[in-house]
Amino acid sequence: MTQTFVSDRPLDKVADFPAIPHGWAYLDTAATAQKPTPVVDAIDRAYRQTYATVHRGVYQRSADMTLAYEAARRRVAQFIGAGSDQEVVFVRGATEAINLVAQSWGLTHLKPGDRILLSTLEHHSNIVPWQLIRERTGLIIDVCPLTEDGRIDLDAAEAMLTRDHKLVALAHVSNVLGSVLDVKRAADLAHAVGAKILIDGCQAVPRLPVDVTALGVDFYAFSGHKLYGPTGIGVLWARPEILDSMPPWQGGGSMIDKVTFEQTTFLPAPARFEAGTPHIVGVIGLHAAIDYVESIGLPAIHAHETALVAETRAALAGINSVRLFGPDDSAGIVSFTIEGVHPHDIGTILDESRVAIRAGHHCAQPLMAALGVDATARASFGVYNGPDDVQALIEGIERVTRIFG
Ligand code: PMP
Repeated sequence: MTQTFVSDRPLDKVADFPAIPHGWAYLDTAATAQKPTPVVDAIDRAYRQTYATVHRGVYQRSADMTLAYEAARRRVAQFIGAGSDQEVVFVRGATEAINLVAQSWGLTHLKPGDRILLSTLEHHSNIVPWQLIRERTGLIIDVCPLTEDGRIDLDAAEAMLTRDHKLVALAHVSNVLGSVLDVKRAADLAHAVGAKILIDGCQAVPRLPVDVTALGVDFYAFSGHKLYGPTGIGVLWARPEILDSMPPWQGGGSMIDKVTFEQTTFLPAPARFEAGTPHIVGVIGLHAAIDYVESIGLPAIHAHETALVAETRAALAGINSVRLFGPDDSAGIVSFTIEGVHPHDIGTILDESRVAIRAGHHCAQPLMAALGVDATARASFGVYNGPDDVQALIEGIERVTRIFG
């Protein structure tokens, strides 16, 4: 048994995470989390025993599946502190959530000369959707710089924001640096100039308690697969009056009220934004993932990952050729480089020691440019990691430094 402790809760890695073989240090949770048994079981049960379509069936099985689907929406709403389940839109992931906002809200609410504020550390999925609509709206994209230690510089944001800004769109937790945004302050700054605020919560929901109401944001996006749930399912949350002001962005079944060739009327949100047969079993799996995460508790997960990050950063800081990025209080993610060694080589050599990390630009090329590197190596933690994984990582890195002299 490989036991680790999340706060004071014992967690049997092998039983809870069947895809993590004994002795494999999986340190790529920021890319995607491994799946706990209850999530795999929920998906298996849905396909083997309860599967049917939702929202349309006249038979009992479909009615039951619809109840399960909508129960998951309520679970998500509760999980993120939404006022109502009708504010939760199921999408493919954070990428689709942000594209939905850009294509629907952006194309109808932004006009030439309007500005939006992003930051240097954004993931491409919070940059490119805005560039795509820049061509069509004439909007101007401003970029908030980072502090020396790799946080979004909200003092700079305050100085940059004007009444021309209609949207501020920022990552809650950086997928490269692990730096945590003061979302409440960012929301207050946006609202002070009349702008809306969108938060990319991909790396935050698996690591920090998130309450969209308390944070005072307007849009919040995340992916299920980083939250120990399935791929292909994610969430866009938005304030109800904002969702009401947004036209559909995809047309098809399930989102209409009445269709004629002359005119179509649409259902209210969230159905208006869920065209087509949804990812039914993905939604069921996401529900199980939230149950799993909450059975441990996000404060405990946060404390656990913070301790692992502290241990990792302290050990890496002791190796001369290592350059560490991001602040010391990073949430679950540590990026680094080793002088004279390409991050891909670090990743390949670590793989020989059964340590899995990510190496590359992490879909954040503008951040790489700002850091003056092409790529970094990134270790990211999840509930299943323990001090044994940190030790394997550090021993692996010492091997890298020996190989490269
Ligand atoms: N934003 C951040 C901060 C991320 O880490 C990721 C995933 N790497 C995304 C957005 C995109 O998520 P997905 O690929 O699941 O849509």
